[in-house]
Amino acid sequence: MSGWHTGTLTELAAGLRARKFSSVELVRAFLARIDANQATLNAFISVTREQALAEAAAADRALAAGGAGALTGVPIAHKDIFCTQGVRTTCGSRMLDNFVAPYDATVVAKLKGAGAVMLGKTNMDEFAMGSSSETSFYGPVRNPWNPQLVPGGSSGGSAAAVAARLIPGATATDTGGSIRQPAALCGITGIKPTYGRVSRYGMIAFASSLDQGGVLTASAADAALLLREMAGFDANDSTSVDTPVPDYVAALEEPLAGLKVGLLREFFDKGLDAHNEQRVREALKVYEQLGARLTEVSLPNLPLSVPVYYVVAPAECSSNLARFDGVRFGYRCENPRDLTDLYSRSRGEGFGTEVKRRIMTGTYVLSAGYYDAYYLKAQRVRQLINADFTRAFGSVDVLMGPTTPTPAFAIGAKTSDPITMYLNDIYTIGANLAGLPAVSIPCGFVQGLPVGLQIVGPHFSEARVLSAAHAFQRVTDWHTRVPPGYA
Ligand code: GLN
Repeated sequence: MSGWHTGTLTELAAGLRARKFSSVELVRAFLARIDANQATLNAFISVTREQALAEAAAADRALAAGGAGALTGVPIAHKDIFCTQGVRTTCGSRMLDNFVAPYDATVVAKLKGAGAVMLGKTNMDEFAMGSSSETSFYGPVRNPWNPQLVPGGSSGGSAAAVAARLIPGATATDTGGSIRQPAALCGITGIKPTYGRVSRYGMIAFASSLDQGGVLTASAADAALLLREMAGFDANDSTSVDTPVPDYVAALEEPLAGLKVGLLREFFDKGLDAHNEQRVREALKVYEQLGARLTEVSLPNLPLSVPVYYVVAPAECSSNLARFDGVRFGYRCENPRDLTDLYSRSRGEGFGTEVKRRIMTGTYVLSAGYYDAYYLKAQRVRQLINADFTRAFGSVDVLMGPTTPTPAFAIGAKTSDPITMYLNDIYTIGANLAGLPAVSIPCGFVQGLPVGLQIVGPHFSEARVLSAAHAFQRVTDWHTRVPPGYA
């Protein structure tokens, strides 16, 4: 099976159906790659070898019997934020180091139902708070393009694993950029769907009004295949939207000619690295050649995204993380003196620095006397940002711009300066505040490091956004590049 690991998820699914190779062979081969690269990349928190081989054997039986689903036998990995029944779910935190979920997240159940085989749980920033995958209790994830650099975050484990072809596709979550930013920094494709498109049931909550599950894959076509199986209404998630899931795969070939593309003026700001900008502008030229019509649009309130997000997200996280109290879930301190000591030491010892920083900020902005000045004000500005997007989509079909200001940065470079770290998400947070679908695709390199192009669409335009990404990938080969040493 030479060269099998560089096959796309779509090709592997087709190969399995055509019985060119078995799921057991494929799973064994990817498990070997995961093992061989764990010490360098630290992309996984758990590897579920026995379970994966058993599921692969079952998949092979289903394939032989002709009863296969769209993903039968295809190896995938889940970000360790998704609850997996009987398998440890840590969320990258000491708090949940010993937590074994009693049920599967809806995303996990759906992909299992479609036949996908889980090989493990990927490393991530603690409770998905971060942009570099350095806040994990299990140590930092490394970027396969250069192990001295971060892979982005918080879904850095999923991104590094897909970029290094340790797995053909992985789930991820995006609260402020955690799918798109690591996709950009690792040179792969990532989609954050519309808020409400993918169930949040069993996805450990960070900021509930922003969190959305999605996928990281090598190509837009692969993303379409995975997303089609994991999207859809779920009565267990009160914000899940009850509209039919289009066939994203069938929609991939939708013609691009005439597509009205808005260039986000605010994204081409002074914070954008000049080389990064050049790659993005070259990609925009390709779109023009493909028949897209480019105009510049301005979303004047968009530059307020970061301050708004860093009020809203901590506020929601301070409430969501109150459940980790040493009593019901996860870590409990030794020999508590009394109940207060149990709470404070369990939380004090179980959570890392960044999580504590967020909880403190969130509690502060929600407290009496500051609520109006911070939280309410942030919610008002959030509405202004929403309105900016709505206005823009009155005249264009999609918006395009860079995914990140710079390519991947060095491990440790920003850990002591939270604000600099937060500014990594300056171009991604807007889509979360407005609940919009957005994709990042690789569009070139700066000094050997990948750069991402971001495409944002109106609510529930995943098919349009993915087909626009696919059109680019049909005429370019950035998405096929594999980091040196991993080909
Ligand atoms: N980097 C952002 C944060 O630290 C976004 C994280 C995310 O999308 N989960 O909150």
